Amino acid sequence: MTFDLTPEQDQLRDAVRALGRRYGHSYFVAKAKSGEHTTELWAEAGQLGYLGVNIPTEYGGGGGGITELAIVCEELAAAGCPLLLLVVSPAIAATVINRHGTEEQRKRHLPGLADGSQKIVFAITEPEAGSNFHRLGTVARRDGDGWLISGRKCYISGVDEAGHVLVVARTEDSSTGKLKPALFLVPTDAAGLTRSKLDMEILSPENQFLLYLDDVRVPADALVGESLDAGLPALFAGLNPERITVAAMGAGTGRYAIERASDYTATRKVWGGRSIGSHQGVSHPLAHAAVQVELARLMIQKAAILYDAGRDLEAGVAGNMAKYAAGEAAALAVDTAVQVLGGAGMTTEYGVATLLGAVRAGRIAPVSREMILNFVAQHVLGQEKSY
Ligand SMILES: Cc1cc2nc3c(=O)[nH]c(=O)nc-3n(C[C@H](O)[C@H](O)[C@H](O)COP(=O)(O)OP(=O)(O)OC[C@H]3O[C@@H](n4cnc5c(N)ncnc54)[C@H](O)[C@@H]3O)c2cc1C
Repeated sequence: MTFDLTPEQDQLRDAVRALGRRYGHSYFVAKAKSGEHTTELWAEAGQLGYLGVNIPTEYGGGGGGITELAIVCEELAAAGCPLLLLVVSPAIAATVINRHGTEEQRKRHLPGLADGSQKIVFAITEPEAGSNFHRLGTVARRDGDGWLISGRKCYISGVDEAGHVLVVARTEDSSTGKLKPALFLVPTDAAGLTRSKLDMEILSPENQFLLYLDDVRVPADALVGESLDAGLPALFAGLNPERITVAAMGAGTGRYAIERASDYTATRKVWGGRSIGSHQGVSHPLAHAAVQVELARLMIQKAAILYDAGRDLEAGVAGNMAKYAAGEAAALAVDTAVQVLGGAGMTTEYGVATLLGAVRAGRIAPVSREMILNFVAQHVLGQEKSY
């Protein structure tokens, strides 16, 4: 057993760190405040191959795994640029298409996802269903050789930046008559698909939307996979990469906040010659947050290694635990950083309070801390389900 990265992974980490630092948190904040996107950073990361590290080489990617993509997510966040669309486009969409799409879908979509010229976002959450995906109300009905999709989705990130939305809908299984999930690649400019931007209290260059699908007609080949049977496994395929990469983003954000805070507390002097960091009331909360972030990183590493080894069930447990741990650690780290910076902590200039909304959301999305605790209680501890 080793905790060391391979030389290639080490190089990737250094290179992504250098790219992230060249842009930095002030770039991320300026884009968010002006309502723009991080277009330049995304394009450069794509050209350098960082967005496609987990995509097979035959489709223009780096041929690595979720371990490599988690490194990209963590290092950009650690540089103050936590990009949520990394979780949606290369982690969820590319994995789903690569593992369960048709060869034609792989050839059509993966090269653009790998070089960053294309983004595919993911729409599962619905106003009525919330955390209970079994209640999804978006329905796809056969219409000639295609499909008609109707329903509503909420909080969908990045629709304004994407060419397609991967929509989770229900279809009627002709053999059983029961409704079963299926994934559709719906162009964002499809007739009948409209969106309205949600006002969110998160400082982010990425936006969330309500999506309305009103008899959106898509051709037969918009269905991910060869048949309706691909739906459920395709949906599950996206979950582990989602949890692992969002956890990595949280761990990176935690590292960023702790670094900003410890630089400040090591030099700030208000009681004579000693720095405020010499007071344990200041340094211990920071050290405690650093321990939590480091523990989360260990679990992320374990989950990513299990996932890349094809051990999906074990990766599911570790990925959920990593997501929980990283979500809590990131929120703790940012809140602690704000506190130890005093008034400076609430300024835009010092760049920590700017992350409060994002880390708070990380305890809710893409899966809430309570739903992870439910998962662990039921699947690890064998407890009965209450809902
Ligand atoms: C910034 C952001 C970006 C997002 N991006 C996307 C996206 O790109 N695509 C997408 O599909 N969705 C996205 N979401 C939606 C996100 O996945 C959901 O908000 C999340 O899954 C929770 O669902 P909900 O908001 O409907 O909460 P609800 O299901 O209404 O839950 C409300 C609260 O009750 C708790 N709760 C519910 N059921 C239980 C239970 N059985 N036991 C214990 N507690 C329970 C929840 O944990 C939560 O705290 C995003 C959300 C945010 C905030």
